[in-house]
Amino acid sequence: MKAPSAAPQSIEAILRQVFGYDALRPLQADIIRNVLEKQDTLVVMPTGSGKSLCYQLPALRFDGLTVVVSPLISLMEDQVSQLREWGVDAVFLNSTLGYQEYRQTTAQVRQGRVKLLYAAPETLLRPETLVLLEQSRVDCLAIDEAHCISAWGHDFRPEYRQLRSVRRRLPQAVCVALTATATLRVRQDIQQTLGLDQANTFIASFDRANLFLEARPRTNGLQQVLDFLTDHRDESGIIYCATRRQVDMLAEQLRASGWSALPYHAGLDGATRRRHQRQFTQEDVLIMVATVAFGMGIDKSNVRFILHYDLPKDLESYYQQIGRAGRDGLRADCLLLYSYSDVHTINHFIEQAAPAEQRGATMRLQAMLRYAEATGCRRRLLLDYFGETYEANTCDTCDVCLAEERPLVDVTIPAQKFLSCVKRTGEQFGVNYVIDVLRGSKAKRILQRGHDRLSTYGIGLEFSKKQWQHLARQFIQQGLVDQDMEYGSLTLTTKAYAVFKGEPVRAELHEEQGASAGRSPAQLDYDTDLFALLRAKRKDLADAAHIPPYVIFSDRSLAEMAIYFPQSPASFARIFGVGQVKIEKYADLFLPIIQAYCRERDIPEGEKPAATRPAPRAGERTTAVATLYNSGKSIPDIAALFGVKTSTVLSHLWKAAQTGQALRPDGLRDLSQLPPETQARVLAAFAELGADYLRPVYDALEGAVDWDELHLLRLYHVAVQE
Ligand code: ADP
Ligand code: ZN
Repeated sequence: MKAPSAAPQSIEAILRQVFGYDALRPLQADIIRNVLEKQDTLVVMPTGSGKSLCYQLPALRFDGLTVVVSPLISLMEDQVSQLREWGVDAVFLNSTLGYQEYRQTTAQVRQGRVKLLYAAPETLLRPETLVLLEQSRVDCLAIDEAHCISAWGHDFRPEYRQLRSVRRRLPQAVCVALTATATLRVRQDIQQTLGLDQANTFIASFDRANLFLEARPRTNGLQQVLDFLTDHRDESGIIYCATRRQVDMLAEQLRASGWSALPYHAGLDGATRRRHQRQFTQEDVLIMVATVAFGMGIDKSNVRFILHYDLPKDLESYYQQIGRAGRDGLRADCLLLYSYSDVHTINHFIEQAAPAEQRGATMRLQAMLRYAEATGCRRRLLLDYFGETYEANTCDTCDVCLAEERPLVDVTIPAQKFLSCVKRTGEQFGVNYVIDVLRGSKAKRILQRGHDRLSTYGIGLEFSKKQWQHLARQFIQQGLVDQDMEYGSLTLTTKAYAVFKGEPVRAELHEEQGASAGRSPAQLDYDTDLFALLRAKRKDLADAAHIPPYVIFSDRSLAEMAIYFPQSPASFARIFGVGQVKIEKYADLFLPIIQAYCRERDIPEGEKPAATRPAPRAGERTTAVATLYNSGKSIPDIAALFGVKTSTVLSHLWKAAQTGQALRPDGLRDLSQLPPETQARVLAAFAELGADYLRPVYDALEGAVDWDELHLLRLYHVAVQE
């Protein structure tokens, strides 16, 4: 496999060409910059927020090797195949490798042909691995699931504690520790064990805006599950149940109703569990009914829903479980069903626990129940619990906010249009079909039936597909139409005929979020028929290559293809997740499908709007440091005042400079310990090579000047340019 490029490329270029993304997410930019400057970094970000890129992208900029420690073998293998799909030279070492493969892999590392080496902790700690690494040039040591270091965490692994010695043996490697577990205690433990500095800790918001949160009392569990699934046909998701018995029963009931559902719990033998897990990763449409034993190490990015059949024991578990949905950033639905009998069951378990643990467990259960019964925004409550303040008043993506905020408006005419379309298509079709007719879709199934000649064809363009879906759900709830449980087809009721005669209908109207609404579109309005074709192609390719489908393209990539209809390699390249290697590998396979589809229907190519990059914002501490400095305080004084190292003050000043703050130049250069002629050489190097990154300057000076000095003189260089 070919390395992306030998000459150093800008971060933006790598992001676009290798990974196919338009922009870094807010914290990623800061973290990557930090890592490239060889500052040890702790990253705390929720699942799905993009931690991997924080070391994968720097790995492509470093000359040497990036070693990634990861405790989960399946996850490691997934990531390596994903990286290879992107054309990155990545390999792994773990106990599953045979002797031959092991030899081959280590030989590749020794020859410097590898950019990323993933290793299980026990493999990494083996003497021969350590010798191999000492002989190679390791530029970065990334420690994934870093909370495993801490006995305070929920997943302590003793081998992880020995990573500190690995770190000592690779002094030139920058260390990045990453975790999704946020408690303060665990954070401090990681920092202490690895010797990380407070200033280089990055904690992301735990808000996952694309998760739609909803909770309801469980009245008729099975029926509620079936209703929910009807809204999620053709999608993949997880249904969590409290007991194995419930898992087996529900999985069986769903299969009996024609859903492809599999059970997963610790009572099944290992081979069955592995087979079911594999199927879940490989299939695009599959429901996993499982106990909490399922989910660790699942990297599937298109999990579209998480349904809890019972109340979880606390919000920590709940948040972790729903976090497995929507990693691709598209909307995912999280429905919690609960009943008071669940509370009794959990209390019963708590009573069996050690007395010292009971109080905490009871309080956590109460918080969980408060969430289930919330009368205010669920998102706010959840974030509150994790110590984060939610700024907005309402979130628009939880059931409580939606119910409160939307006044009922008169929708008699849209209701008449919808009902009449149900009637004219013969009361045989489901919601989406009726909507497609109303919105004048050119889908084959509509044209073949001649439904483009109906009087209701194309009369519903005033609403988006999503708005119509929301209206239709309300028409069903209000009893204007009945929905067949099995096929989803709609039939009119007597109430519908009253509406034809002028009986008024009132409903909530979903406001359409414009493209400029700031947040990324959680739900994309794409052509579902084209999407299905592309998805089938993806599945064939994945099966042939024995990799999970989302490794080829995420759902988000396919959705964008079905929105913008790219018909040339150039416009294909602008699609989310389409990098250089993916173009070479897949453009010829996917473009013809899109071209043929568009030719048949006269669909022109769409224009994908350019991405807007959020401007960096300075934190409070950064602003305070910059203000003090500009008011005349010296850098050592400020360091003493805050009780931090001078290098920390420098990195705040750099952040301030990057957000456009002017800094006074005096007070910087006189801190340098270098002789004046060396200072001049460093400044000349910045002038020539630019100040965005230190590495090129460090290399140009052949490592003669240490990083602290480079930080200092770079600030001076930037300050005098103001
Ligand atoms: P985590 O390790 O934090 O759980 P991942 O690294 O697996 O998350 O990333 C989650 C998803 O987000 C992946 O599908 C990844 O490809 C995608 N992703 C990461 N960074 C970006 C970005 N800057 N732009 C778009 N997608 C991204
Ligand atoms: Zn809300």
